[in-house]
Amino acid sequence: MSTKQVEAVLHGSAFGMVGDGFRVTNYFPNGNKPGRKMSPFILLDYHPPHTYTPTKQARGVGVHPHRGFETVTLAFQGAIAHHDSFGGSGTIFPGDVQWMTAGSGLLHKEYHEAAFTQNGGVMQMLQLWVNLPAKDKNVRPRYQAITRNQMTRVQADEGEGFVEVIAGEHKGAKGPAMTFTPIHMYRVQLSAGAKHSFDIPENFNTGILWVKGNGSVNETREAKELDFLLFNQAGTNFTIQATTDIELVVLAGEPIDEPVVQYGPFVMNHPIEIQEAIEDYHAGKYGVLEE
Ligand code: MN
Repeated sequence: MSTKQVEAVLHGSAFGMVGDGFRVTNYFPNGNKPGRKMSPFILLDYHPPHTYTPTKQARGVGVHPHRGFETVTLAFQGAIAHHDSFGGSGTIFPGDVQWMTAGSGLLHKEYHEAAFTQNGGVMQMLQLWVNLPAKDKNVRPRYQAITRNQMTRVQADEGEGFVEVIAGEHKGAKGPAMTFTPIHMYRVQLSAGAKHSFDIPENFNTGILWVKGNGSVNETREAKELDFLLFNQAGTNFTIQATTDIELVVLAGEPIDEPVVQYGPFVMNHPIEIQEAIEDYHAGKYGVLEE
């Protein structure tokens, strides 16, 4: 068993608003260019805790299209509502994950849930974009509402804490998300002094969003809140040590070795497909959704 090492620490971009509801820092692709080193993950926006005042009109992002990939939204605090043009809708509460396959194209809107809007409160969430292989880019859109209680919990190796398996597998526990390529996604919470080890195949790309607290990787590399740790592909095992109480999100996946062309909300393989995606959008082929 060989150790997988941290290759680089990525820092997020300056904070910006997505619509009027999500105050995020972007880790890739804009702020950094890990490119194929994070494939199949193509975008990561993180919204650290931020307090929104009570209001009447829900804050968020109005109707917009997506095509050719999946959006994965995880709520840590607050509540996010969602509607799409294929009749999908739901609310993402703390600990829940929405895994939406845009596939051949849809329209959706994402905004603060009604009670949260009225009462105000702390929002903390992330959105990850997961690429689809060329053969699956035109699958029918679908929506997986994954609640926290559907996720298997694996207890920490040493000390207090656990890993919630969202996708893939960890120490024999399988996550509920259906994915098109092999992906492991975990949410990790460890109390101060706890330790936990992870096995990831050598060919997978791996990264950790360090959401909260201080700790280290492989006993040596220190890490802190808002770091994104990008690992080498080589090696199959790493360990996390919690100095304070920590929270992390671990992402690992088999790279998709195909060309990537992104234009706004469309992620395809070739420029001609981007043109088609835009034409289909203007032709109304992604369905209808009211603002
Ligand atoms: Mn969206």
